[in-house]
Amino acid sequence: MGTGRLTVDLGAIAANWRALDAMSAGETAACVKADAYGLGAERVVPRLMKEGCRTFFVAVAEEGARLRSIAGPDARICVFGGHMEGDTDLLRNAALIPMLNSPAQAARHLSALPDAPFGVQLDTGMNRLGMEAADWADLRAELLPRDPVLVMSHLACADEPNHGMNGQQLHAFRDMVQGVHAPLSLAATGGILLGRDYHFDLSRPGIGLYGGAPFTAAEPVVRLALPIIQERAVAEGETVGYGNIWKAKRPSKIATVSAGYADGLIRAIGRSTVLYHDAQACPLVGRVSMDLITVDVTDLEATGAALDILCADQGVDDLAIAAGTIGYEILTSLGPRYARDYVGA
Ligand SMILES: *Cc1c(COP(=O)(O)O)cnc(C)c1O
Repeated sequence: MGTGRLTVDLGAIAANWRALDAMSAGETAACVKADAYGLGAERVVPRLMKEGCRTFFVAVAEEGARLRSIAGPDARICVFGGHMEGDTDLLRNAALIPMLNSPAQAARHLSALPDAPFGVQLDTGMNRLGMEAADWADLRAELLPRDPVLVMSHLACADEPNHGMNGQQLHAFRDMVQGVHAPLSLAATGGILLGRDYHFDLSRPGIGLYGGAPFTAAEPVVRLALPIIQERAVAEGETVGYGNIWKAKRPSKIATVSAGYADGLIRAIGRSTVLYHDAQACPLVGRVSMDLITVDVTDLEATGAALDILCADQGVDDLAIAAGTIGYEILTSLGPRYARDYVGA
């Protein structure tokens, strides 16, 4: 078998949800946009429902419609992107709850689906999605009597606990929701870790469920094993891969494994990444190609059939740091070519 094997531990996702739920003051939802951060909503969502999770967040209505067919009628499905032009049928037919982000979205929703549920997203300083304070001041008298399912906002710097923006946004949110009786939500993974002040009625973690920072106590969720296609001896002074960027300083043994940047292992992971044979680290050498990675296995007594690039010793955040990015991007880039195994169902 020539493809990498991605093993997703659903039991670890469930344990991470339970741990975040135990920390949260109110209800704990789950953020499953981008196909559950690339790990497969079809398997992740039923596992979370088995654990007791009932509210799910996606980015756009199309994702919500697919999620409805996975989750069945009992789940609450909220759409961060709100009610876009052309979304009305999807929202109605899949019983999705749009988070209204602007006066235009509010007007569209109230005219197209006047009796359908909705939430409101407020901007408390991130300036990405949500109603500005002035929009909200104009609209709250019209929207609040219609009982929004949720009034929410999002933190820009929650992964930095000491950042002044956290307190500033908390303060802005409290101001904007004064006198609001609808359920409130401010915290994603980072916000849960900031403490009770940030929890309100519902938290909506994503990355922490999938084993990523800032939830450093998370159980690891993914393992990625790449089969060795070929091994060769390389003499001192020979080069490996595109651009000749790696030259053997000693007689070396090079393993070529199956996966590359087309599988989400971006070229930028090159410089400090290792692959593991059990607990023994073997340096990635040369450039990452589209479908192949070359690894220095000179110090291994015997190579097995595959080397691990994601495992207990090297998680998504380690790879992300090596590539100058974040775990979210590594996870959501994991490609469609891997064989996927789910354990812990
Ligand atoms: C993605 C997202 C979340 C989840 O964030 P994590 O950092 O992955 O926990 C929550 N709320 C909003 C608005 C988001 O866009």
